[in-house]
Amino acid sequence: MIDRAHGYFQREKETMSKRKREAYQKEKLSEILRYGYRYSKAIRSRFDAIGIRPERIKDLKDLEKLPITKKTDLVTAQKQIPPFGGFEVVSKKGMRRIYISPGPVFEPGEWDYKDTRWAQALFACGIRKGDVVLNTFNYHLTPLAFMLDESLKMLGATIIPVGPGNLSMQIQLIRQLHVTGFLGMPSFLMSLIEAAEGMSLDLKKDLFLKAAFVGAEMFPESLRQKLEGKLEIFIRQAYGTVDAGCLGYECPEKNGMHIPEDVMVEIVDTETGRQLEIGATGEIVATTFSKVFPLIRFATGDLSYLIEDPCPCSRTSMRLGKILGRTDQVTKVWGIFIHPWQVDELMSKFPMVANYQIVVTRKEYRDQMTVYIELKEEGAEQAGLKRRVEKEMEEVLKVKGQVEFVQRGGIPDRAKKIDDRRIWE
Ligand SMILES: [Zn+2]
Repeated sequence: MIDRAHGYFQREKETMSKRKREAYQKEKLSEILRYGYRYSKAIRSRFDAIGIRPERIKDLKDLEKLPITKKTDLVTAQKQIPPFGGFEVVSKKGMRRIYISPGPVFEPGEWDYKDTRWAQALFACGIRKGDVVLNTFNYHLTPLAFMLDESLKMLGATIIPVGPGNLSMQIQLIRQLHVTGFLGMPSFLMSLIEAAEGMSLDLKKDLFLKAAFVGAEMFPESLRQKLEGKLEIFIRQAYGTVDAGCLGYECPEKNGMHIPEDVMVEIVDTETGRQLEIGATGEIVATTFSKVFPLIRFATGDLSYLIEDPCPCSRTSMRLGKILGRTDQVTKVWGIFIHPWQVDELMSKFPMVANYQIVVTRKEYRDQMTVYIELKEEGAEQAGLKRRVEKEMEEVLKVKGQVEFVQRGGIPDRAKKIDDRRIWE
């Protein structure tokens, strides 16, 4: 019986002391900054523009002195200096692939993939040497499926590069090839399971799945419980971006996502770029050590927070908490920022609420915020609830709003959490 719940891909690295980790990352950081300054036009011009030499940036805290690079900066730079915007450092060996991610952003792929961050994540999720793994991530244009493919090789697992689509064929493959590992989006795993159930298969006897690694979209706890219950395996997620690679992964303990050693992650105030304290919610910003496409303070657009308490798995890295949403979904009402995750948190205190939507309008140059609420049981007591939600909104969001109740189904399924209907003209 394979032990899928313990062990490490790189024990020494994953369990090093805080002091050792800091020293390790300081060395890596100075190396990449010096390297980037020397070989990447875009990085050099960014340093020169603010009059700082790479030697001045010694640790995580020092990174604050450098500007944030946003995805839109990459897009703009690549239009000015095609195709890679001057961020690239191409080695003598050349480029193995050119990836194209939404934007569009062109990204050179290294000849020899040596980054172990995804391999650490796959190991922590229970994939082991000898597993036969269905990789259902898309191999078309973007790098994620390839990075995972290379990482499975590091683990010694066999890959079926199937990509998404054709559920019945995938189920047939799982059965014919005795597939033990699944890689893909959680919603795709759910579709796969529903299709298997539709074929009257016994999920435990007729399929052989032992470990599932999911990512690339939100993974609500309710979906995890459903999937884990049906398959009787554990399912772990990782977080990353196509540009910056793996930035966090869950271990068997499932309490946040360990930040791999070979990347530096900051949580910053979206407006100022300043680092926030442990536990505070802000934007995830990453500095990678890639020698082909180094990214310095790359803003992901995703919101999360840091967890520092020790993890029972003995990995010593800090962890990212839940991904709480996107920075661009933020809305300003009466000059105050309102994030969808804040509203989620607020509403979670009212279990009788089935669904809700905030609508922001403007009347006579004044913002108006209305919260439409669907109740789990119609006819439940409304007046008291209205008062409590309105009070909570004022306390938590610092903005006054009005609650209105709608019938079940009154809020469309895919409606935005915050619908900003103000017209600015
Ligand atoms: Zn852990």
